[in-house]
Amino acid sequence: MNEILHNLSLIKERISKACNESNRNPSDVKLLLATKTVSSERIKTALNAGYTLIAENKVQELKEKFAALEAVPHTNHFIGHLQTNKIKDLLKYNIACIHSLDRFDLAEKLHQRLQFENKTLDVLIQVNTSFEESKFGVSPDHALAIVKQIAQLGTLKVRGLMTIGLLSAEAHNVRRCFRLLKDIQQQIIASKIPNVEMKELSMGMSNDLEIAIAEGATILRIGTAVFGKRIYPDSYYWNEDKG
Ligand SMILES: *Cc1c(COP(=O)(O)O)cnc(C)c1O
Repeated sequence: MNEILHNLSLIKERISKACNESNRNPSDVKLLLATKTVSSERIKTALNAGYTLIAENKVQELKEKFAALEAVPHTNHFIGHLQTNKIKDLLKYNIACIHSLDRFDLAEKLHQRLQFENKTLDVLIQVNTSFEESKFGVSPDHALAIVKQIAQLGTLKVRGLMTIGLLSAEAHNVRRCFRLLKDIQQQIIASKIPNVEMKELSMGMSNDLEIAIAEGATILRIGTAVFGKRIYPDSYYWNEDKG
């Protein structure tokens, strides 16, 4: 059996086991494939097997793979740090949801461009639940305020929150990040902000998906466990201009 297909079946098993253990329905947990550095040929293997939700971190990579993937039905999300000068480019590639909205100025510029194109866009607010300097995301203290601000921008549909848990740490420290995201979600729901939905919690990656499911994840973002190790360190994607 092809390695990618084999890995996908292992992931599916891990998801259903974790859902079982926390009394959740596996159909409430979406599997998103993080495809950074993965070739379009390898991505196609997953798409053809029915795993059709994928996401890139960089507009450049999205662009490079777009033509090769266009004929294969799939849904594109965007999970990387987005610079305002890339917005126009990004919107060319049928992005259904941006998980990494973390600044009001970025939201405003997205809104302006979406208005111009007469479009709307689903977004998740990225929260820095690990308090690591190097990570993108709004600080947990500011999440509610920024959601209120973004809710005023009619083209942006806030659907939930995203976070990257603490890496290679003990389970309880990872869990604390995911719990915090859930707490923030509950706080925002309680604030009943018009134009804001808080259904999605995008959290959990190859190494911590079980904890994320136990804490309420609705979207898992999985790369390594499906496609294998990447040659670039993740810092290349996660803190490119943060020193
Ligand atoms: C790469 C990436 C993932 C997937 O991480 P793995 O550990 O490879 O599963 C998830 N989320 C974001 C934002 C990523 O950049």
